[in-house]
Amino acid sequence: MNLGLNKIEHLGIAVKSIDESNTLYTKILGVLPYKEEVVESEGVRTSFFQVGPNKIELLEALHSKSPIAKFIEKRGEGLHHVAYAVDDIRSEMSRFQKEGFQLLNTEPKIGADNKLVCFLHPKETGGTLIELCQDRR
Ligand code: ZN
Repeated sequence: MNLGLNKIEHLGIAVKSIDESNTLYTKILGVLPYKEEVVESEGVRTSFFQVGPNKIELLEALHSKSPIAKFIEKRGEGLHHVAYAVDDIRSEMSRFQKEGFQLLNTEPKIGADNKLVCFLHPKETGGTLIELCQDRR
């Protein structure tokens, strides 16, 4: 068991159209997405690319109330979040909370790619949305 963050699990990129961006990222990365997944609870459609040891997640809004729709409205397409892998999401969540970070969800949520996830508010993290994710076993 490792305390703290293990590694960058993936980078999340907000896009207007998964279909168009899949084509673009296939050109950029030289690989096809290995999976697509809708996460209704988050209001997103996602696709995942593997680049060597790294993963890229594209996120498209399912509807206008989706956090991705709001992000694109404010900041346009582009880097949306940095996700870090953790072994024990609950202990990391309480560590961050004790250190004064604002959690966007107080219970771990089921995210894409079979993960338990929690987001930290970008206000306390210097402007970058941070996702903690733990493999569901
Ligand atoms: Zn993510």
